[in-house]
Amino acid sequence: MGIVRTPDQTLRQYITAKRPIIYINHFDFEAVDRIIKNAAGAFAKRGFKIIEFTESDGWIDFDTKNPKSSSENDLANFLQKINTDQLKGEKKELIVVLKEVHDSLQDKRVYSALQAIARRKGMAKDVPGDYYRVTVIIVDSRLIIPREIEKLITIVDVRPPEPDEIEKILRNVAEAEDGEIDESSMKELVMALNGLSEFEIIQISRLALANDGIINKDDLDLIFDEKRQAIQKSGLLELYYVPAGNDDQKKDIGDFDNLLKYLDGKARIFKNLADAREHGVDSPSGIMLVGMPGCGKSLSVKAVADKFGCPALKMDIGRLLGKYVGESEENLRRSIQVAEAASPCILWIDEIEKAFAGASGGEVMTRMFGYFLTWMQEKKAPVYVLATANNISNLPPEFTRRGRFDEIFKVDLPKGDGIADIFKIHVTKRSGRDLSDDIDFDYLARKCNGKLYSGADIASMVKSAAEIAYLDSDGPRQIEQEDLEDLIRSTTSSCKAQENNESYKRMVDALEKLDSRPVSKNQ
Ligand code: ATP
Repeated sequence: MGIVRTPDQTLRQYITAKRPIIYINHFDFEAVDRIIKNAAGAFAKRGFKIIEFTESDGWIDFDTKNPKSSSENDLANFLQKINTDQLKGEKKELIVVLKEVHDSLQDKRVYSALQAIARRKGMAKDVPGDYYRVTVIIVDSRLIIPREIEKLITIVDVRPPEPDEIEKILRNVAEAEDGEIDESSMKELVMALNGLSEFEIIQISRLALANDGIINKDDLDLIFDEKRQAIQKSGLLELYYVPAGNDDQKKDIGDFDNLLKYLDGKARIFKNLADAREHGVDSPSGIMLVGMPGCGKSLSVKAVADKFGCPALKMDIGRLLGKYVGESEENLRRSIQVAEAASPCILWIDEIEKAFAGASGGEVMTRMFGYFLTWMQEKKAPVYVLATANNISNLPPEFTRRGRFDEIFKVDLPKGDGIADIFKIHVTKRSGRDLSDDIDFDYLARKCNGKLYSGADIASMVKSAAEIAYLDSDGPRQIEQEDLEDLIRSTTSSCKAQENNESYKRMVDALEKLDSRPVSKNQ
């Protein structure tokens, strides 16, 4: 594992390495100011000066935030002044902080001035008389970079506080507000606050203390509420499923024994991540489920969330696509940030093949695809990715390459015992009790042999059987063997109906060739 650097260490390193423009994509400006100050502190010996420009106030004092007397409200003019050494002062290291300037950044005069600053820095010899140590730091809640200066920019990620830092923040707030913390809840509180920014943690702790003077388990709801709100406000992800606190979903999903068993181990690691990491175990990254439509892929999202004991968020890549340059990439970045802030969580990407199928074509998709894969590989936050796909024949091969996902599982049409299992689950659910003494599920499974039914087909036959039983001329009764046998005789499977369809054939073919594990021992 590489060395984990704090954001101020990273920033200091980039300034020392003479990167001309650094971009910090964050909304908590106070926290970023502290990072900049800490990073710049390293240059105290040779002297440094920080100047700031904000979209709303123009040129202001970095420390006091008061407008400068010789105020400048036009960013292009401001940068021009820097370029002509008017704002340099006596110090050798000049740090120019530009806040929330994403609109002005699109202006040709502005990005040209930034290009000029970068060019001059690149050419400076760094000797007396030719000293040009100007670093521009853009701090913005949005990440929209004009193509023209993309290559000149280095992005610094401000990661949310680590568990020990969260604990420190909680203690500081409690002390400052004269409140208490229930030490026995500390571990749980820290885990729940994981992913939130320092600003959000402070806000929540203050609210908790204002309620009853103590931060304890009762405040977990406050934290989850904050996370839920963040998901909703983003408008980018959907809160798909929140587990009720028990591992019940396996009663709803049949014929997934291999997958469920595999997830048991991963869930244990996920729930004890810090401990597992200390034992040299990697954090579970995620799985891809590929397979036939209607065979329980979506259902398995709930099963994973139940096992891992955390909510499932749904990402719809189509919804992220924006009409402005850079908007789609920014939306993807933001939605990943939202997922990390909501962590621990499951991030479900449905129909990933539709989302990224264009990766070989469109430039935007290629960039999004690259960004997503890099994030998958480097992510530290406990976000377990569950990607589901039907037709992988269009998916770029990088996706199904080993190493991206921890494992690729194949979901085929159910067979033998698997069919009996799914019938039993749905009959039990609809009738509210176990009808194994009255219905021979194994016999039904044999009757389905060769019929190519999907789980959804079986669920729909049981639904019809319940309706038939309810409407019986002698009055409502329970589902009977005969109802189901009749339905098996008269129902054509949804796959059979498509058997001659070319894209269906391609899908089946790609699925057969895929190097993957079956979700069930029956398949
Ligand atoms: P699609 O790719 O078309 O979205 P899917 O594979 O995600 O399909 P689901 O939406 O999970 O399929 O399944 C549809 C319905 O079929 C489920 O709500 C459930 O009622 C039933 N079903 C499918 N597979 C199973 C299964 N293995 N066990 C129990 N029910 C199942």
